[in-house]
Amino acid sequence: MDIHTLDLNFLTDEAIASFVVESSDGPVLVETGPHSTLKNLERGLSDLGYGLEDIKHVLLTHIHFDHAGAAWALAQKGAKVYVHPFGYKHLLAPSKLYNSAKRIYGDQMERLWGLMEGIAEENLISVEDGTEIIVGDATFIGWHTPGHASHHIAWQLGDLVFAGDVAGCKIKQGPVVPPCPPPDINIEDWHASIDRILGLKPSRILLTHFGEVSEVETHFNELKEILQDWAAWMKVPFEQGRDPRDVTPEFQAYANGQLKAKGLSEKEVARYDAANPAWMSVAGLMRYWKKKLGA
Ligand SMILES: [Zn+2]
Repeated sequence: MDIHTLDLNFLTDEAIASFVVESSDGPVLVETGPHSTLKNLERGLSDLGYGLEDIKHVLLTHIHFDHAGAAWALAQKGAKVYVHPFGYKHLLAPSKLYNSAKRIYGDQMERLWGLMEGIAEENLISVEDGTEIIVGDATFIGWHTPGHASHHIAWQLGDLVFAGDVAGCKIKQGPVVPPCPPPDINIEDWHASIDRILGLKPSRILLTHFGEVSEVETHFNELKEILQDWAAWMKVPFEQGRDPRDVTPEFQAYANGQLKAKGLSEKEVARYDAANPAWMSVAGLMRYWKKKLGA
């Protein structure tokens, strides 16, 4: 069965992927990317000979805008959208989700992420842990894999796993880093979810940011290590009660220093910074410590 990685060209190349699985019963989309890159998704599909209306099934790893932002537009063309039960109500009625992001992105919201409308109940399917979604000769299994988000699903297809953000962010030949946005980063859950995916013994994983990884065990071991490292780093300013805004430039210098030590150029470091901004990890990891240790 053919599987294609579409580059949605969000701000730069190889930042956000959407995947097309060509089943015997038509194409299945895993991740839609943001609504702002819907035209690029449409172009990628048309290169494969499909239109948006040919997509009858959309599997989401989670509801963050970079993964699910365009799902409603595909639902309006007739697709069924599969999502974790905790993400269901936000896609049904997205104003709370959209407005909380808008508070962060302000007047950049539409340019970055586009718009979001609700998905009709008949198009939206809540996926329990271990559920099989069968489309022609393709059997996907949705595994609940919290850590990056409480409502995260990794989709298994045979010996392949679409691992979403539980597998971190790895750009080109660079190292893997954990995207840590608020509100529900949980380090312990994330480690358990990694072990769960490793337990499936995939020969390859597909990362939304970005592409295929075949050294699965090495990849996840590196991710665990840096996740632990970043969490430990953030514990200090958290315990000192510092303002996240003051911590951000220090953390940015720390994380960028790690990338430079691994041989990345200024330009490559900037690409990581854009894909996984420091302010986001500071906010996410501070919130993790606050939930764990109290204010
Ligand atoms: Zn993401």
